[in-house]
Amino acid sequence: MARVTVGSLSGLTPMDSLPSPEELGKKSCAKCKRNRMYFCYDCRVPMEGVPTPKVTLPCLLDVVKHIKEKNSKSTAIHAKIVAPLQTRVFDAPDAEDLEDYGSGEGEDGWTVLVFPSENATSIEEFTATKGKIARFVVIDCTWFQVGVMTRLPQLKKLPCVSLRSYSTAFWRPQHNHDDSHLATIEAIYYAMREYQELGLKQSYRGEFDDLLFWFFVTMGKVDAMKEERRKRQLESGEKEKTEGEKKERTEVTVE
Ligand SMILES: [Zn+2]
Repeated sequence: MARVTVGSLSGLTPMDSLPSPEELGKKSCAKCKRNRMYFCYDCRVPMEGVPTPKVTLPCLLDVVKHIKEKNSKSTAIHAKIVAPLQTRVFDAPDAEDLEDYGSGEGEDGWTVLVFPSENATSIEEFTATKGKIARFVVIDCTWFQVGVMTRLPQLKKLPCVSLRSYSTAFWRPQHNHDDSHLATIEAIYYAMREYQELGLKQSYRGEFDDLLFWFFVTMGKVDAMKEERRKRQLESGEKEKTEGEKKERTEVTVE
């Protein structure tokens, strides 16, 4: 299974283009006044003065996010930060602003749900048989909430497309799931890539690698925390605990 790494993405903006957390510090968000460092995940806007990369996607993106999925932990919000004009985020299940997509057929092409339902087809096959995709809809929630989300009246008639098999870049052996569980932003990235390369038959040159920029910034933070912890443990002579690793991985956020 394919797995992207920082080194394999030619279009990824170098992480060191970001000012250090010490330089940046947390500032008050202009909209909600909460203190944030890089972007405000509640308002879904970058903080002033933070050089966030911007990308152009081959089609539009709607993220339908379960309200119980914390904004601070949601990687899907990264798409709104780097592709703000092409991305919309809705807070489900009570999203009053979420339109009814109906059958998904539209003048500019299809709206499709990225979800491996029984009737899902590959993005390549869908494009070859039905035509252009104008918009991907991606659900952002835990596996427990998937049923509620896919049964939303606005979504339930949409055609589903499934991704090829990939391995998450954020996998740690201690984690509960195997490495085929992608972060939502990884699923968005692969959907866009499959559409460009296999659907539109256009070569991909890293144009939207930066969809994963904030994801890798988060990973960098996790790794730095692990290293820091390892040092502390070495100093105190403690043995590394698996439980602690798990906790660390789920609790890290980009703020
Ligand atoms: Zn805010």
